[in-house]
Amino acid sequence: MKLLVTGGAGYIGSHTVRELVSAGHEVIVLDNLVYGHREALIDDGVQLYEGDLGDQDFVRQIFTEHAIEAVIHFAAYAYVGESVHEPLKYYQNNLAAPLNLLTVMKEYDCKRFIFSSTCATYGVPATIPISENESQEPINPYGQSKLMLEQVLKDCDAAWGLKSVFLRYFNASGASLDGKIGEAHDPETHLIPRVLMAIRGEIPQVDVFGTDYDTPDGTCIRDYIHVIDLADAHLRALDFLQREQVSDYFNLGTGHGISVKAILEAAEKVSGKTVPVVYGDRREGDPPRLIADASKAKEKLGWVAKHSDVDQILQTAWNWDGNFGK
Ligand code: UDP
Repeated sequence: MKLLVTGGAGYIGSHTVRELVSAGHEVIVLDNLVYGHREALIDDGVQLYEGDLGDQDFVRQIFTEHAIEAVIHFAAYAYVGESVHEPLKYYQNNLAAPLNLLTVMKEYDCKRFIFSSTCATYGVPATIPISENESQEPINPYGQSKLMLEQVLKDCDAAWGLKSVFLRYFNASGASLDGKIGEAHDPETHLIPRVLMAIRGEIPQVDVFGTDYDTPDGTCIRDYIHVIDLADAHLRALDFLQREQVSDYFNLGTGHGISVKAILEAAEKVSGKTVPVVYGDRREGDPPRLIADASKAKEKLGWVAKHSDVDQILQTAWNWDGNFGK
């Protein structure tokens, strides 16, 4: 298929682009490169349109020049803490800008959409593991902006038959198996890259946010899912849309929780080094436990996590040294 991937130069986007290309799809990437990296697009034949989703004429130009059959939409801001202090930035970029894309898709009768949603749409869940039936009550503007776009997509389905798959990611992690691309956020706030940066001496230490949670070792539990497994889910979602021609939504996680302390131990194991760590206070807005019930994705997409063992996540993240295309 001929696909438009927005945010294709970002972390999850760039890994997905590689999987799409190796499956034989033709990929056009739209990315403003604010957080994405040109160097993350390492496959021949991937065409990059550098620009902003907020510019409707720019988006239209892509659809004029290419017969786009489906859109995979990654482009978004994803710093939860920043979203609390700068909500308009998040509603502008994650909600308003994609309306331009949808407007142009409607014009060009393009009716397949895969959307990067998030477990942050569930807020603080009442039940663990979290199924897709959990009520969606986000506790920050980031999660709210994603949930609002989910609603827009449902309305577009009802009005003009846009078929969407929402993929609600849990904690994306790891790097490509060949070490050529990986996670490269600036600033980097995520646990695993920060732990590895501390081991490499790039930051003085990693702060553990809270040791008094109601969990077995007192630290927060998350469901870490390898970025290659996430990429694979997008290919399956594409097949699903072609096959079933209905909208649907899926949690993407492993169903297993890993504590912050367990991540530190796994990092020490793969690196053979000690993590410089400071145990500190809780970070505002962190739910104690987020674990997916991903059985629906298994049943309907045939998707299961294959690379998300904690050791493989840490090993691939450790092999990736931030040097694109080496
Ligand atoms: N965390 C931590 N120190 C850090 C970054 C994160 O202790 O420097 C904890 C955080 O409180 C959470 C878990 O690690 O419990 C995962 O955080 P991350 O920011 O990677 O992902 P999130 O779950 O917030 O999306």
